[in-house]
Amino acid sequence: MNKDKIWLSSPHMGGTEQKFVNEAFEQNWVAPLGPNVNGFENDIEKFLFSKSSKEGAVAALSSGTAALHLALVMLGVKAGDEVLCQSMTFAASANPIAYLGATPVFIDSEEETLNLCPKHLKRAIEDRIAKGKKPKAIIAVHLYGMPYQVDKVNKIASEFDIPVVEDAAEALGSTYKGEKCGTFSEYAILSFNGNKIITTSGGGALITKTPAAKEKAVFLATQARDTAPHYQHSEIGYNYRLSNISAGIGRGQMQVIDKRVRARREMHDFYVDLFSEIEGVKVHSAPNNDFFSNHWLSVVSIDKEKTGGIGREDLRLHLETLNIESRPLWKPMHLQPVFRNAAFYGDGIAENLFENGLCLPSGSNLSQEQKERIKNGILSCLKEYK
Ligand SMILES: *Cc1c(COP(=O)(O)O)cnc(C)c1O
Repeated sequence: MNKDKIWLSSPHMGGTEQKFVNEAFEQNWVAPLGPNVNGFENDIEKFLFSKSSKEGAVAALSSGTAALHLALVMLGVKAGDEVLCQSMTFAASANPIAYLGATPVFIDSEEETLNLCPKHLKRAIEDRIAKGKKPKAIIAVHLYGMPYQVDKVNKIASEFDIPVVEDAAEALGSTYKGEKCGTFSEYAILSFNGNKIITTSGGGALITKTPAAKEKAVFLATQARDTAPHYQHSEIGYNYRLSNISAGIGRGQMQVIDKRVRARREMHDFYVDLFSEIEGVKVHSAPNNDFFSNHWLSVVSIDKEKTGGIGREDLRLHLETLNIESRPLWKPMHLQPVFRNAAFYGDGIAENLFENGLCLPSGSNLSQEQKERIKNGILSCLKEYK
């Protein structure tokens, strides 16, 4: 095996990142504040809101996880509260609930978007209320870049007057009915970890509806210092601001975000093409034109019965021998040992997706030659189509 490794999703620099980082060094803004932090926030605000009638503000933070934590703090989630959360997601969606001593209650997915199922969401809310506790918040995720059923989820949330926290960590550049993901609720979060559609090497953002809410979030993210010549604190604070160095990388990345979305979507088209002739493999795609996914990762489900017995692990292991990375979907939170005592509302959709689903290499920087290797690798596994 001579070949370089093909990753699921690797960093893809645009070319101007180092210029912004160098400026930070030249001006000695080597700190968790500075012109790149402000510039990066402006870039994201413009990207999300400039073509919209909506308004909002962006606070750049040290991670998407930190942003979720702050969102829950801002909503007043406290020890003993319950927070509803999509089960099929990365653990970072749910962990901040536990940081606050609150209890997660997990909800199943629906088949069209793989995200929060409105039916089970409603059932869970009614049941939790009947059991004596109204949930404090709903964490909904645009998984793999696919928008969740925004209208349906928001309708239920407003019916019961429960705020939604929108986890758009994987969905920068995705839209629902023409509006950008990250703009549908009181608080939304983004991630710029190394494997996301753009990266700051590590970082995240909290999106708020108002500049005042952003100001409060930044106050909490910088140790909650009261106005005083000495250090004085009336609230518990956090050290969650993004470094001005990292933000410099982010400014460079924001110059190419549209290109990155296009390239990821082309990878999705590549798989739609490849699997169109192969029985038993479904490429997950937008249910209709309301949903526009950045296709951060391309996802397939494999039906062993129809592929002549070849399942998701067979394909994954086969690709591994060819030095091609692929990965099962997120293991649902209600199946995770750490959350084994949490309540769950659902009927096996997320579990089934986990059993049969596979994420395929989806980077925006895959060469023609690498795509050929992926294609040949997949075809040589699903043998009869060789
Ligand atoms: C990456 C990710 C996060 C966390 O973001 P970090 O920046 O890595 O802390 C949260 N939710 C989802 C769905 C993610 O994919």
